[in-house]
Amino acid sequence: MTPHVTPQADPAKGAAVKAADRAHVFHSWSAQELIDPLAVAGAEGAYFWDYEGNRYLDFTSGLVYTNIGYQHPKVVAAVQEQAGRMTTFAPAFAIDVRSEAARLIAERTPGDLDKIFFTNGGAEAVENAVRMARLHTGRPKIMSAYRSYHGATAAAINLTGDPRRWGSDNGSAGVVRFWAPFLYRSPFYAQTEAEECARALQHLEDTIAFENPNSIAAIVLETVPGTAGIMTPPPGYLAGVREICDRYGIVFVLDEVMAGFGRTGAWFAADHYDVVPDLLTFAKGVNSGYVPLGGVAISSAVAETFAKKPYPGGLTYSGHPLACAAAVATLQVMEEERIVEHAAHIGEHVLGPGLRELAERHPSVGEVRGLGVFWALDLVRDPETREPLVPYNATGPANAPMAAFAAACKKGGLWPFVNMNRTHAVPACTVSEAEVKEGLSVLDAALSVADEHM
Ligand code: PMP
Repeated sequence: MTPHVTPQADPAKGAAVKAADRAHVFHSWSAQELIDPLAVAGAEGAYFWDYEGNRYLDFTSGLVYTNIGYQHPKVVAAVQEQAGRMTTFAPAFAIDVRSEAARLIAERTPGDLDKIFFTNGGAEAVENAVRMARLHTGRPKIMSAYRSYHGATAAAINLTGDPRRWGSDNGSAGVVRFWAPFLYRSPFYAQTEAEECARALQHLEDTIAFENPNSIAAIVLETVPGTAGIMTPPPGYLAGVREICDRYGIVFVLDEVMAGFGRTGAWFAADHYDVVPDLLTFAKGVNSGYVPLGGVAISSAVAETFAKKPYPGGLTYSGHPLACAAAVATLQVMEEERIVEHAAHIGEHVLGPGLRELAERHPSVGEVRGLGVFWALDLVRDPETREPLVPYNATGPANAPMAAFAAACKKGGLWPFVNMNRTHAVPACTVSEAEVKEGLSVLDAALSVADEHM
């Protein structure tokens, strides 16, 4: 959907917005004096624009959450209607829009994940999934994978398996990390997907055996790890983890905060792998982030634990009516416009093949991975050794190749998702073929810049 609002330049307002931001907004994940946030004037569909009148094709979907694009009129109208009727009401009460959102979500989640605990975002969902697993099993430890992201609150950041954890790591009490499969940079020196899968499952079993199976409450995995590089698991891996969890009485938690609600061309990424977890965390795409919402979808076995004894946890804004109204409207729009099917089509026939074609011509692209509208390009200094184009956690001059790549994208009118040595192509699930082709042509030019830095 190309925006029907023509961006109007208003540099004076842009300067004022930026000055107030610089004075008073404390930004996430940043050294406050070293950042220069773009002042954004508006957004529609797959695009946003700044106060200078520059328009950008958003290949990030915000933080991978605007699955239906910006400003969908039906969702905006639903939030407005709800605000006029009942802006807020406490979570202990049954509210029409809250029960309808829970029903629609439960209908789409796999298996018997039929009860929904609402949160305000992904990290809170992970916190509560972990609490449920510990109370359900009576066991203390949680296992999570390296190369993962689960959020920035206390437990969620400690489950996170990448360098972003380091600054706030509290010593990881009760957290056991393991290596999940990733053939391109295999922790197991595997040559094939089958080998990677078998070795990863054996490594997980060995880790469990040495930790004591009876001490482990949960294994938490992103179905398709997103922030850490969109690493689709080899066939059989998630089914193997499911079997291990069943054998040892461990709760299997799949984190679908990023991969859920259409992103992979299915309602949930778990649908591609035919696995049903005991708990599934979600946020982002559930209502495209129009109003903050997340949650945990709970299996009947875990729900049963809290049937007669209270669940000791809750949030003031759990299932906020405005957020639930946005979710109900989003899920209806996704059905009406067949957005999940569209995301699958774009991935299979336009974005996936287009990225693979770029990889053939650009030596800096080491690997293309993904599905649906969830893709990563792994950029390398040397395709033979697979040495990343920039070192892990690089900043300043060490990060110059990725900075030059990102600058070339922005100059071409595309806003890129850049993380370490990767760029992710994660536009809205509603992105059109023409928009994808526009994005691919900007990436083509920017990858030539990356090639020069090899
Ligand atoms: N889990 C996953 C898989 C995520 O991608 C994210 C956010 N990127 C989170 C959890 C945390 O979500 P939030 O930022 O809404 O707390």
